[in-house]
Amino acid sequence: MIARANHRVSYPARIQLVAAMNPCRCGMAGEPGYRCARGERCRTEYQARISGPLLDRIDLRVEVPAVSATDLIRPAKSEASASVAMRVARAREIQRERFETAGADGALTNAQCPPSLIETVAAPDQAGLALLQDASEKLGFSGRAYHRVLKVARTLADLDGSETVSRIHLAEAISYRMDSQRMANAA
Ligand SMILES: [Zn+2]
Repeated sequence: MIARANHRVSYPARIQLVAAMNPCRCGMAGEPGYRCARGERCRTEYQARISGPLLDRIDLRVEVPAVSATDLIRPAKSEASASVAMRVARAREIQRERFETAGADGALTNAQCPPSLIETVAAPDQAGLALLQDASEKLGFSGRAYHRVLKVARTLADLDGSETVSRIHLAEAISYRMDSQRMANAA
């Protein structure tokens, strides 16, 4: 939405943002046995350059270790892309049917689901709800973050072929919102 003095224009847009960054200014924080010359500030100051409101809109934050030469020479066995693609296609089909049944206008995926409906279709079981309430308080989730966590948890349950959004799905969804330091403190 672009608003100027006399005009307001709404452009159609649906994007998927994928971004990567270093863990700290020197790029080495988190490497086993390594200590940044600037100490913990190296990480915290560097990561603080991403504004909170921007970070709040990023649902999946994953820390990936550096790739070593040995990793390239002997790559670890991993699931084939084709089988992952099949699981994703199944989960998307579940979502398409869900929103068709619910009569959600134009929504095809959990990401596009309106907040009021996601609270119904992703209503967690009791243990999941307790975890979500606890995490919301401790991590200070915004309203947006709360609904995004529900959406991610719903998708994880769909990938599992599970009707119910349970504690395990919420725990994973919440973990994608935590940085490594907070995770270490919470453990
Ligand atoms: Zn560093």
